[in-house]
Amino acid sequence: MQDYFLEVQGLKKYFAAGKPSLFQRVAEQVHAVDGVDLQLKRGEVVAMVGESGCGKSTLALTLMGLEEPTAGKITFESRDITHSNEHDRKLMRQKIQMVFQDPYESLNPTQTIEQIVGEPLDVHGLAHTKAEREVRVIKALEDAGLKPASTYLPRYPHQLSGGQRQRVVIAGALVLEPHLLIADEPVSMLDVSIRAEILNLLADLRQTRQISIILITHDLGTCGYFADRIAVMYLGRIVEIGPTHDVLTNPQHPYTKALLSVIPVPNPRLRRQRLILQGETPNPIHLPSGCRFHPRCPVAFEECRVVDPAYVEIGREHRAACLLLRK
Ligand code: SF4
Repeated sequence: MQDYFLEVQGLKKYFAAGKPSLFQRVAEQVHAVDGVDLQLKRGEVVAMVGESGCGKSTLALTLMGLEEPTAGKITFESRDITHSNEHDRKLMRQKIQMVFQDPYESLNPTQTIEQIVGEPLDVHGLAHTKAEREVRVIKALEDAGLKPASTYLPRYPHQLSGGQRQRVVIAGALVLEPHLLIADEPVSMLDVSIRAEILNLLADLRQTRQISIILITHDLGTCGYFADRIAVMYLGRIVEIGPTHDVLTNPQHPYTKALLSVIPVPNPRLRRQRLILQGETPNPIHLPSGCRFHPRCPVAFEECRVVDPAYVEIGREHRAACLLLRK
């Protein structure tokens, strides 16, 4: 049996969509995450990809314990952390850290870099002396590529470039020596020239610290860079998951094919046929019947309106599922 370090089973997170009307007993619900299964091995990088609103960020917040799951189970390092209490949650946050998208908003402009990176140590009571605290802060900054670290300690975020700020955000996560890093669009706010640097840094950290990473992104191109597996999300569910190479070179789900078809190819002689999906993403309050992708699927057939193919373990099996539906 495979020994997974993180296991997510049937995870759901619904939000109430306003207050119930006079004719309703309960409020309608937004199905932000709607039955996600995911396993992660130690040191593995999995990229979660999908359009805005597909539920990938809500999934990240739920894994972090910042949102309470509506249903399902999360097991981390053999412990059920689905509904942990405040004490357990605090312990868990030492091991699971998050890197947010916007380094401009996630840093307190009134604090020095030393205060920002040292704060998690204070919150968790992990540095017993000032000297110990400084050693750990310097190590985290250097591991995040800010060298010599001592020159950064007295500076403020506005005195740094965008790339340096994102490194400070990463240092703030590393200082607790986490086992899992959830990086939510970590390079989308950065200049193209700096993106590769930050992705290289994450790849190095995975090698040197054996950190597992869940990379949340809308950019399939970023995933090929260093993810071991890609999970494609659509309307709160994973619709295709598999090894990065297989998903990028031989996608099976029509949605994955459409996402890949619009990635520019850096060779003018190679032309990819663009697959532009028709219509808008359906409202996550009123999900379509059957396969939730059917209103936009270019190869949908009658049964797709009725039968939900549910979770697709490996892309290839999706076609099998569709073919089975045709019988
Ligand atoms: Fe398209 Fe039908 Fe497959 Fe859904 S089940 S992706 S609608 S072919």
